[in-house]
Amino acid sequence: MKRKLVAGNWKMNKTVVEAAAAVETFSRKVDRFRDVDVVICPPFLAIPKVRELIKNTHIDVGAQDVFWMESGAFTGQISASMLHGVAVKYCIVGHSETRGRFGKLEIPAELVSFFSETDRTVRLKIRALLECDIKPILCVGETLSEREADETDAVIAAQLTEALTGFTPIELEGLVVAYEPVWAIGTGKTCDTAEANRVCGMVRAHVQSILEEAEPGSGEINFRVLYGGSVKAANARELFCQPNIDGGLVGGASLDPNEFTEIVAAAE
Ligand code: PEP
Repeated sequence: MKRKLVAGNWKMNKTVVEAAAAVETFSRKVDRFRDVDVVICPPFLAIPKVRELIKNTHIDVGAQDVFWMESGAFTGQISASMLHGVAVKYCIVGHSETRGRFGKLEIPAELVSFFSETDRTVRLKIRALLECDIKPILCVGETLSEREADETDAVIAAQLTEALTGFTPIELEGLVVAYEPVWAIGTGKTCDTAEANRVCGMVRAHVQSILEEAEPGSGEINFRVLYGGSVKAANARELFCQPNIDGGLVGGASLDPNEFTEIVAAAE
């Protein structure tokens, strides 16, 4: 059985001071669960402080996004080599919120186009991360209307194909894919456990088929498929027991050190 991975996506929450306080509380609690890989993805500004506080633990630090160019006239962007320079090990790419696909809309609908991630930019970001030895956490998932139109599998398969075509199996060793139904993100609605397991199995099979096409006969690579979407202490154990679910990408519930510790404990 693969080691489970639990990643906390703090999104645009916590100042550097608040991040330090949260990490000080939960790193002591979470470090006991050494059979689970744990990653915290704070806002960019808090990464160096979080990294300093977790350096003697088995917890890793991740980023929530990256820009694909190395440097240049790209105001406001952060490159993979900059992330590598502060010891970032993982980076989320293609999150539904950066794609402008919100489970819970907290801005006027006409401003959503500000978030314009595409499968093509996701692929460029994955390339940049791999060149800097940072593991991508690639997010895929369907909206409610896509689910209701019975398009879930087709939408996810297309996202995976677009994002992962052109890479060799060796390059993608250690990849993490997070199945995150958009309608479950930040809404309190969790995907039915059996359905989450089914879709994660489909994700696994589709990634294998992309790799088989890239290099026929190359065999299996080591990659993990997480579930994300309103994971909390109360439902984590049931989700993590499913054979196709290798852990969780946790948003809201990762902000509370006690809740997050219980989720990590459930993974162990
Ligand atoms: C997420 O944003 O990746 C996420 C899963 O959020 P939440 O757990 O709050 O639904």
